[in-house]
Amino acid sequence: QAKQNGRNRFCFYTAEIQAQSVRMLLLENALRRALERGELSLNYQPQFRSDGRCIVGAEVLLRWQHPELGAVSPAEFIPVAESSGLITSIGEWVLRTATQQLRTWLTNGIPVKTLAVNLSAVQFRQPHLADIVAGILSEAGIEAGRLELELTESVASDDPVAAVTAMNELHARGVQLSIDDFGTGYSSLSYLKRFKVYKLKIDRSFIGGVIDSAEDQAIVTAIINLAKGLGMRTIAEGVETEAQAHFLRKRGCDELQGYWLSRPLRADEFAAFVQAHRAMAADEEPQALLPA
Ligand code: C2E
Ligand code: MG
Ligand code: MG
Ligand code: MG
Repeated sequence: QAKQNGRNRFCFYTAEIQAQSVRMLLLENALRRALERGELSLNYQPQFRSDGRCIVGAEVLLRWQHPELGAVSPAEFIPVAESSGLITSIGEWVLRTATQQLRTWLTNGIPVKTLAVNLSAVQFRQPHLADIVAGILSEAGIEAGRLELELTESVASDDPVAAVTAMNELHARGVQLSIDDFGTGYSSLSYLKRFKVYKLKIDRSFIGGVIDSAEDQAIVTAIINLAKGLGMRTIAEGVETEAQAHFLRKRGCDELQGYWLSRPLRADEFAAFVQAHRAMAADEEPQALLPA
């Protein structure tokens, strides 16, 4: 009986692994053509100052709409892009498209201070990354200070020395660096001292529990205070309720991002959103999005 179960379990296991690798191969082949077929696009999720009174920028989020597979989540296709090496060309496309979009907005008088672009650890290990980024910025006519690159803690995991060098090169060009999903990865606090990090992005998993869990409250408060002590800014991701926003603002978190403030938007929707909030901020009695 046990042997029978064991064998069934084994069959089930291999079938699942097989289905998974078939899906990955399928995605990899489809992804190879996605760029040239124009299936990739970008969304922009507004980032607010924590008093809710102004939009400080947006996070750039990649979208893939395949004709047969439908919308594929970046959580699923980014790992495929990384393992196949496609991330290099896709990542450059993201940077180029985002900076050119920012150029268009600024030329049309739509005030957007910064764009935050996610950078995969694989891209981060590319030689001459800083030169590539600087080239893309100058092509679009965008000052480096308007670009923020979101890195995860994993960039430092296999070669911390190389990571420090790459960060220093980007920093020297004037690009701002933030640590995404902070608190979930390979956190060696001693590296924070050496990294030229401008901002910590507190992971969504802690924000979700910030009202009901004493542990999450303690973690979030500690991250905010750590950042302050090191002269870094903080942004909370995944803010879904007013109560979470209120808590974060009271604890001194600088910026907020999440569904409660806005979902990720298409470029045209984002421009309209910024215009609407500018009109609001220009009111005689500025109306805060968040209650005082
Ligand atoms: P991330 O950088 O941590 O991005 C935040 C994710 O949280 C986004 O998912 C966003 O849509 C989602 N989100 C925003 N607000 C809320 C909220 O209030 N509640 C909840 N539950 N979720 C919220 P998305 O767009 O599916 O992206 C997933 C991940 O894929 C990103 O996580 C990022 O790691 C990666 N990614 C996306 N675009 C790019 C890209 O251009 N390059 C690279 N290398 N990675 C990317
Ligand atoms: Mg991010
Ligand atoms: Mg994040
Ligand atoms: Mg995240």
